[in-house]
Parts: sequence; C-alpha cells; structure tokens
Amino acid sequence: MSKKVYAYPDCRDMRHGWVHADDTVLSETQGQVKLFTRTLVCFRCETKRIDTYRVATRGQHRVVKIGVKYDYPKDYQVKGGFDVEAMRWALFTGKTKMRVVS
Ligand SMILES: [Zn+2]
Repeated sequence: MSKKVYAYPDCRDMRHGWVHADDTVLSETQGQVKLFTRTLVCFRCETKRIDTYRVATRGQHRVVKIGVKYDYPKDYQVKGGFDVEAMRWALFTGKTKMRVVS
C-alpha cells in the first residue's frame, strides 16, 4: 500500500504567510466606498484569501469584515479534513502512511 502524499507542510503546520495583493471596490455611493474586497496571497503555496469588508458610516465609523473566501491550489484541500499532528509525526519519524512533500 502506497503512502498518501500531502503537499504544503509549512502552510498546514504554521498556517499561511499572507501578502497583501490587491483591494477592489465593490460598491460606492457618492464617492464613498461602501463595500470592498482585500485579496491576500500566501507567499508559499499561493492560496488566495479574499476578505470582504463593509464600510459603516451611519452612527459608527468602522470597517467591518463580513466575509472570507479561500481559493486553494488544486492539491491543497483534503477530503474529510487534515490531521496536522499526524503530519508532524510523519515528518519527525516517517512512521505513518502519510508522505509529506515540500
Ligand atoms: Zn500557504
């Protein structure tokens, strides 16, 4: 039985390293931005995170995050979830059926 291969061990263990890539205005009224997205890209695996913000100006002046969407590389997501602790064990010992590649 062959070992199942998992990529991106650093991102799975330490989480992504985000770099701000872009902001996009989704809606504005009379020159006032009401809704925008901020796109972040992981410098290791190139996962994209797109945060959506609403600019609240009535009564309170705040920028509120209202949504987060991720766009992963093809081989990143694991059906049924991913066991980070088992991955660490595989990296330290090689004694699991998990094979981790960089
Ligand atoms: Zn990453």
